[in-house]
Amino acid sequence: MNKFLKFVLYSFLSLLLIGMIGIGTFVYKVKYGLPFYDSTPPTLPVEMKDFSVLLFSKTNGFPHSEAIASAIPAFEKMAKKNDWSIYATNNAAVFNKEQLAKFDVVIWSNATGRNLTDEQRIAFREYMENGGGFLGIHGTGDDSHHWDWYYNELIGAHFSHHPLSPQIQAANLHLECDSTSSYPCMGLPATFNRADEWYVFFDNPRTKGFKVLYTLAEKGLEMSGNIKYLVNDKDFGMGTDHPIIWYKCLPNGGRTFYSAMGHTGASFQEPTHLEILEKGIRWTGKLEGSCN
Ligand SMILES: [Zn+2]
Repeated sequence: MNKFLKFVLYSFLSLLLIGMIGIGTFVYKVKYGLPFYDSTPPTLPVEMKDFSVLLFSKTNGFPHSEAIASAIPAFEKMAKKNDWSIYATNNAAVFNKEQLAKFDVVIWSNATGRNLTDEQRIAFREYMENGGGFLGIHGTGDDSHHWDWYYNELIGAHFSHHPLSPQIQAANLHLECDSTSSYPCMGLPATFNRADEWYVFFDNPRTKGFKVLYTLAEKGLEMSGNIKYLVNDKDFGMGTDHPIIWYKCLPNGGRTFYSAMGHTGASFQEPTHLEILEKGIRWTGKLEGSCN
């Protein structure tokens, strides 16, 4: 083989190897999360308002970069309007007893992967078990966290997949709300239509005592997450009862709220979506509604 052909062959094989390592790392990151941890807590603002929100977006798993970047100014604007303090960070070392105590609600905005150390997990669990508020968005409910308590108590369902062809689809959402509800759902739209990447879960959060705020009308949608030659067991949805937003009161006054919506950056510019999230913050932070 002449020198030039050898050079072309080795270059091709090197690029193939680099590509395979890159794809392999990405798939592993999405499924299991890479172990990048934080050990030095951030310096929080000295002045905090009466109602304070922690906005956490660390992605050791899938990086929803556009959605995360779009959510920060949207929540900051919401906080300003309501006279709340908001602190946005990717630094997981904020999950310590002293600093968590300063916040009424902790938002996980597309935070993915195993992003807390064991010690930070204990601090967060204690915060929630002592009456804290949690609001999880989209990727926060994927299967990359590997934490039983988190799935069973905060998220309430186990992620299976999302549609791939097409990945983003417009769909109708239906509100579950009556006048006796302890959740402040009155005034939210009974039905609305929007586009997103719709998560499919193996189990229904109702079976774990969660109450559903919105369901997704699957009819007419393509729910398959199969990938030709690679994945062939994901050709299903959740059927006629497909919860998409749900919430639950925890023992000792803690409140958890999860919305599977929010894949796209545009999601955080939609007034109805933001109105739902704002209500979610108000409820998880005990500004509205109850746990009767
Ligand atoms: Zn997504």
